[in-house]
Amino acid sequence: MAKQPAEFIWFNGNIIPWKDATVHVMTHAIHYGSSVFEGVRAYNTTDKGTCVFRLNEHNQRLFDSAKIYRMTIPYTLEQVNNATLDIIRKNNLKSAYIRPIAYYGDIGMGLAVPFGQETELTIAAFEWGAYLGEEALQNGVDAGISSWNRLAANTMPTGAKAGGNYLSSQLISMEARRHGYGEGIALDRNGFISEGAGENIFIIRNGVVTTTPKTAAILPGITRDTVMTLLRDKGYEVREENIAREAMYLADEVFMCGTAAEVTPVRSVDGIQVGAGGRGPITQDVQEMFFGLFNGTTEDKWNWLTPVYQ
Ligand code: PMP
Repeated sequence: MAKQPAEFIWFNGNIIPWKDATVHVMTHAIHYGSSVFEGVRAYNTTDKGTCVFRLNEHNQRLFDSAKIYRMTIPYTLEQVNNATLDIIRKNNLKSAYIRPIAYYGDIGMGLAVPFGQETELTIAAFEWGAYLGEEALQNGVDAGISSWNRLAANTMPTGAKAGGNYLSSQLISMEARRHGYGEGIALDRNGFISEGAGENIFIIRNGVVTTTPKTAAILPGITRDTVMTLLRDKGYEVREENIAREAMYLADEVFMCGTAAEVTPVRSVDGIQVGAGGRGPITQDVQEMFFGLFNGTTEDKWNWLTPVYQ
């Protein structure tokens, strides 16, 4: 990060100045990608002030990711939830992107050394705008299918949000940018659509909404779940099915979603215009329902908002 984005950071149980939260160069996670992390957002809501969105689900996924890698996070879920709220408060943030990360520190060089060891834990919280840009939220991004596939199920688990997985995301994103696209979308090893570098994918044709199944090498996103719940609640048909590459070209609408990207329309895939080439009506409806959770126009029936300052 070029400049310090917040004053304080939660670091192994203490809140300390941002600049003091350093690790040794021999940190295991730097060498071997042995970290698990989350991306969470807090919104400045109209009705309840600053609220973390789906706090418990995100931190539960942090523990799930750790479990897959046999990591022990030396705190309870409740402690991590409280620490997340504490660091937002300490930085006096109205809205925030929050990054909890559990990782193996300076524990030696052996690859298998970490077996059963405790991780370190850091939680950063800072202001952050639209990941793919404000303009993309309105008009959509141009996406390209990557020549890099997502990880095969028996290589590395994509259901864990682990640091090492993001080398795959970086290859996908870098290739997309090099070809002039706003974001890259990867296929799974069977050739079906998997997900974006950091987003899940939805297509819409004839009013039916389809997203890729959990077995298509995706990280099952919490935003994906949010969108499916909101759409079904409004009476839309939502399917989880394999999506062929050409189905994206022939869709009336495509959008991608994630904590960072929120709900972003996709206006072209591989240079082929999707539908009318902008933000389609159902995508707009999804955005309005999603952002409505924060501006008070969508009722939070699911208790997804955790107030920070009350
Ligand atoms: N896939 C990948 C690879 C991601 O990094 C993310 C962002 N965490 C997502 C999907 C979307 O997940 P979520 O909605 O939980 O942020």
